[in-house]
Amino acid sequence: QKWVYDFSEGSKDQKDLLGGKGANLAEMTNLGLPVPPGFTITTDACRYYLEHGSTPPDLEAQVSEHLAALEKAMGKTLGDPADPLLVSVRSGAAASMPGMMETVLNVGLNDESVEGLAEQAGSERFAWDSYRRLIQMFGKTVLDIDGEHFEHALDEVKREQGTESDLDLDEEHLKDVVGRFKAIVREQTGADFPMDPREQMDLAINAVFDSWNSERAIIYRRRERIPSDAGTAVNICSMVFGNLGMDSGTGVAFTRDPGSGAQGVYGDYLQNAQGEDVVAGIRNTVPLADLENIDQGAYGELMETMSRLESHYRDLCDIEFTIERNKLWMLQTRVGKRGAAAAFIIATQLVDEGLIDMDEAVRRVSGDQLAQLMFPRFVEGGDATQLTEGMNASPGAAVGKAVFSSEEAVKWADRGEKVVLVRRETNPDDLSGMIAAEGVLTSRGGKTSHAAVVARGMGKTCVCGAEELQVDTKKKQFRAPDGTVVNEGDVISIDGSTGRVWLGEVPVEAPAVVRYFEGEIAPDSDEADDLVRSVHRILTHADEVRRLDVRTNADTPEDSARARRFGAQGIGLCRTEHMFLGERRQLVETLILAESEDERNAALDQLEPLQRQDFLEIFEAMDGLPTTIRLLDPPLHEFLPDLTDLSVRVAVAEERGEQDEGTLRLLAAVQAMHEQNPMLGLRGVRLGLVVPGLFTMQVRAIAEAAAERKKAGGDPRPEIMIPLVGAVQELEAIREEAEKVLADVAEKEGVDVPATIGTMIEVPRAVLTADEIAGAADFFSFGTNDLTQMTWGFSRDDVEAAFFHAYLDKGIFGISPFESLDIPGVGALIKIAVERGRGARPGLKLGICGEHGGDPDSVHFFHEVGLDYVSCSPFRVPVARLEAGRAAL
Ligand code: ADP
Ligand code: MG
Ligand code: MG
Repeated sequence: QKWVYDFSEGSKDQKDLLGGKGANLAEMTNLGLPVPPGFTITTDACRYYLEHGSTPPDLEAQVSEHLAALEKAMGKTLGDPADPLLVSVRSGAAASMPGMMETVLNVGLNDESVEGLAEQAGSERFAWDSYRRLIQMFGKTVLDIDGEHFEHALDEVKREQGTESDLDLDEEHLKDVVGRFKAIVREQTGADFPMDPREQMDLAINAVFDSWNSERAIIYRRRERIPSDAGTAVNICSMVFGNLGMDSGTGVAFTRDPGSGAQGVYGDYLQNAQGEDVVAGIRNTVPLADLENIDQGAYGELMETMSRLESHYRDLCDIEFTIERNKLWMLQTRVGKRGAAAAFIIATQLVDEGLIDMDEAVRRVSGDQLAQLMFPRFVEGGDATQLTEGMNASPGAAVGKAVFSSEEAVKWADRGEKVVLVRRETNPDDLSGMIAAEGVLTSRGGKTSHAAVVARGMGKTCVCGAEELQVDTKKKQFRAPDGTVVNEGDVISIDGSTGRVWLGEVPVEAPAVVRYFEGEIAPDSDEADDLVRSVHRILTHADEVRRLDVRTNADTPEDSARARRFGAQGIGLCRTEHMFLGERRQLVETLILAESEDERNAALDQLEPLQRQDFLEIFEAMDGLPTTIRLLDPPLHEFLPDLTDLSVRVAVAEERGEQDEGTLRLLAAVQAMHEQNPMLGLRGVRLGLVVPGLFTMQVRAIAEAAAERKKAGGDPRPEIMIPLVGAVQELEAIREEAEKVLADVAEKEGVDVPATIGTMIEVPRAVLTADEIAGAADFFSFGTNDLTQMTWGFSRDDVEAAFFHAYLDKGIFGISPFESLDIPGVGALIKIAVERGRGARPGLKLGICGEHGGDPDSVHFFHEVGLDYVSCSPFRVPVARLEAGRAAL
């Protein structure tokens, strides 16, 4: 088997085999760009190594062969004492895992070849600087020595010389550093730093393989859902030197601004430096544009190279380069990561430049990026005062009263208050508070702290690491650098996109993209900026290519109207439970507690006209579009007072000797209806079967509202949906009653009432008997929240706060199955129901309602299994439109 490829043998399409770095080094080599020669050991070899604990037997020979060829091409031998060839040993997996694995530079240096290198380069300082870097990197990554030992030793020498910059160290100082570094290696490992160049190289190769399973790499892969057995390639690349003097240097660059997409010169450059110095922030870099004055020739060549890369990759690229004595060398390129706005703008720019077509433009943006562009923004210039600036951990704008514990956050939010949770740092116990809060502010921890990671996962605004704030959770206050003390209950504003924190309320506004969706900004008007125009073009194209319809979950006329403006093609889920709260709660209570038929009917008669009005307005907002109305679903006791509260009330009244009959009766009823597992109790279709008249009242209200709309010239399209069905008999019983009511209303009103009757598929038994159920259903709608809950046996209201963080930490799943559909589990059930349902009733209409309808990965799955539509909250409608388009390409 071929385990090793010369850079000239590969191409950018071989990422799986050569890793991203290797594939792109090969691509650049073949484009004739100045890449230092080298070769790549395949990910196959790494997989072999990980499986067997040793490298493939013939690997060593193949490496020797390629090394010999490299040495011949370079006219030098690895580690030759007189004129050494030096190489870097670089990791590079198929999926980009920035900073997760290892690279060792200057391999081939030892006590002898360092002299040869000095001689050849005419610089002792440079040779010893390179040598100390090798021992440092090799010590850390290959020999597992804590890097601090080296850093301390280097700092110490700098201190002795009274300087902070390693540029002030001359060759004698650097020899001293090398001596100290070698001593560290001896102390820490009990052995000397290896002098044999080939041994150095082989050990470094194995260390790169091993770094695949470093803890941080494992955690990163879980989070990013990168397969754990993919392995990394290893690139052996001949060294070029940016640390040869001020005519040399190293830098990174983007071919366009990754923040805005604007064309121009973006990057950082550092003179007299090697590789990692740029990212490590050891010294201050200069903007790339300054390179033009430093070295016009190399700058010109770099600009030309970048524009070639862009047109070749047909995308924004990022690159690493080094200039060795005025000569440019390319060390890495890849299609660059970019911000959300830039992604849209660049995609349409490339279309206009003729580099890609609109299909490709749709593929190049994502629903997540679109969602980011829809977060509300703060309007600058209110009268709030800025307190400090922390890290922009999770975008969005949050305004609320400061609270200092998770319990308070939950308590205040339950009272309907908007709060911002302020902590020094968060831990898993804070999850419920984070969920309840508008946003999270911490004074400690970076962008990978618990607060930041969890907030991003939840799409919650977060500013972390605002270190200037002194947070005192005991006193429930924090102090800003200007002395301002913010107490519990004071209103603060935090901006997760900039990291800024204010005292007071900063007004928020909808970003331009949302105003475009609202119809407030026409895409061809002057008010539309580049971003709005790009979003418009891309979504228009997505709408043209998608097969899935997108509906919305909406319970009010306002939500329905907004969703329609956002492009919804109907309502996929109109919940009716909210319509039973507020003043109507009393009526529901009467209904539940009714002891006689007359009492019950009286309550139903009062509820019906109220319901009819609800539906009337929604049909009006959704005129001409399907409107799926779910009959009452939640456990009945949710409409009754809390058992504990009521018990206390009764006990207190008894104490005072003022007991009244009504309350006692209520208590008895509440006790009787109390359920241990309400989610598995009396709810959904079970209610319809057990509480006489409830569902028929709802169906009548729907039918009468539809009839009224029709008579007014409207086009109502109700779809009546029965929740929680597990057996066809349940559905049949309800259907029979409902059809009677529909016929009855049609006759009375003298118009045809165009309603269909279908069911939710959310109980596993419904999936398994979908063929039978299809016999009584005009449509299925997958209730993926309940289906997930019942498939996993997770009580959704409890598990997320209780232990999901542990499950996520342990990698049992990379993302909550309530957030993104569990495709192998819940998805398999959906497939079964689709097959059995359509098998029994071809053309059966299929949709999904539930949080997953707006989740990008889930939308792709729903497209693939052949659903007719997805339904999601109004603000996710554009996201679902885009992802449905992407799924179809
Ligand atoms: P990472 O994937 O972390 O960026 P790299 O393998 O790209 O790691 O290497 C780390 C740094 O060393 C980069 O700045 C890179 O440009 C530099 N580097 C790697 N190989 C060489 C080489 N052969 N000559 C000079 N610099 C190199
Ligand atoms: Mg790199
Ligand atoms: Mg449900």
